[in-house]
Amino acid sequence: MHIPLIEQSYAALPELLYTRVEPQSVAAPKLVIANDALAAELGIDRDWLHSADALQLLAGNVAPSHGSVIAMAYAGHQFGGFNARLGDGRALLLGDVLLNDGTRRELHLKGSGRTIYSRGGDGRATLSAMLREYILSEAMAALQVPTTRSLAVVETGERVFRQRPEHGAVLTRVAKSHVRVGTFQFLAARGETKAIEALMAHEIARTMPEVSGAREFLAEVLSRQARLIAQWMSFGFIHGVMNTDNAQIAGETIDYGPCAFMDGFDPQKVFSSIDENGRYAYDKQPTIGLWNMTRLAECLLPLLDENREAAIKIAEQELGRFMPLFEMEFEKRMLAKLGINELSHAQFITETLQHMANAWADFTRFFTALTRGDDMRSFFISDLAHDEWRAEWNILRAPEATALMQKYNPVYIARNHRVEAALTAAENQNYLPLHQLLDAVQNPFTARADLVQFENAPDAQEEVLQTFCGT
Ligand code: AMP
Ligand code: MG
Repeated sequence: MHIPLIEQSYAALPELLYTRVEPQSVAAPKLVIANDALAAELGIDRDWLHSADALQLLAGNVAPSHGSVIAMAYAGHQFGGFNARLGDGRALLLGDVLLNDGTRRELHLKGSGRTIYSRGGDGRATLSAMLREYILSEAMAALQVPTTRSLAVVETGERVFRQRPEHGAVLTRVAKSHVRVGTFQFLAARGETKAIEALMAHEIARTMPEVSGAREFLAEVLSRQARLIAQWMSFGFIHGVMNTDNAQIAGETIDYGPCAFMDGFDPQKVFSSIDENGRYAYDKQPTIGLWNMTRLAECLLPLLDENREAAIKIAEQELGRFMPLFEMEFEKRMLAKLGINELSHAQFITETLQHMANAWADFTRFFTALTRGDDMRSFFISDLAHDEWRAEWNILRAPEATALMQKYNPVYIARNHRVEAALTAAENQNYLPLHQLLDAVQNPFTARADLVQFENAPDAQEEVLQTFCGT
């Protein structure tokens, strides 16, 4: 059996960026789900992943052989308010696995116990929240959107108290890096310019080796972020908590809390129960992405130019590219979803989305119905609205529209009501709905007769109106 070699490269960074932690044993670890496909990509042996040794490691009961398990320090703007001291309050970094292509991935345990960054929290996570992250992140990966992944969920055999007692669990999260905008803010708030330079060099070497210098670094981070948000939005995804500590530098979707894929299209849609002012609503995401990138640029000012005025000019120039980059990627994807080749028809996207919003059309079904050549009348507020739209679409659609649309329009998304049903069943030891749902969302572009129930929007009783941070 091949045991994965794990290294702790983050520990080479300045010590204020992390704290060593002792693994805290949990009572009765049990493997709930393991991601064999991801393990294969990581070069991790399937037999090892399902072994008793792996279970101890993935439950946080033992440290890897290098012995230095750490919790990362970071800061962050949470709903706009700055907190200079956050950090892994219930997570720890096991270290890197080395892939055959020379790149590295971090293994991170979420729900692994208290650390010095826990503040009032219990350091634990619930089974339902960790399975939710598993489903949503694997759905995202299958849509080809950059994301952290989920390697395994282990039940702890301990109770976690939220609104009610729940099963505790630990998720093994896999990421290119866990460095966030908030990690840079942590250093900037302490005037640690040298450490910012070291952190930037670390991120560049790991996740963007083609980049050199602070300006290119800022440019690369913000273009990844702009493209990422455009990709989310082209699938009706709402992240829900786009705080700067949840904005990952390498451009992967991270921190699946109260996030969701939308059913009926409402551009102002908010799911998160704690987002009372709609700061992170669907259509605010690009603006918030730019706001987060502006916070990163502020941290990098001392590295952009010795002269502050000159540094600000450079930052402004780079930040000015964010919205055009977002729009270009969003338009490209939305036009492909509509089977249109020419970027010059962006106005038609706006019109289509307006029709969809008027009729509260199901975001995903609208595009799959169009791809299949179904009658589209039910997605419009009136036959007249439909006929006018349809006439325009007939003119704009490309001859090869269907092939193009099939690539961009998933049949299956991780619909909230299906996610909730799978989680409720799993809490009662019935894992079948979870595996069926994963089967659908892990192959989202291929319709299958046995999975037809996962295509449908919820009916009035099934609809989930909010997702909770009760994590
Ligand atoms: P999140 O909302 O998950 O992005 O977390 C924001 C901050 O709160 C991070 O520093 C987390 O580590 C911390 N945190 C969240 N839940 C817990 C918990 N149950 N125990 C300790 N810290 C937590
Ligand atoms: Mg977070």
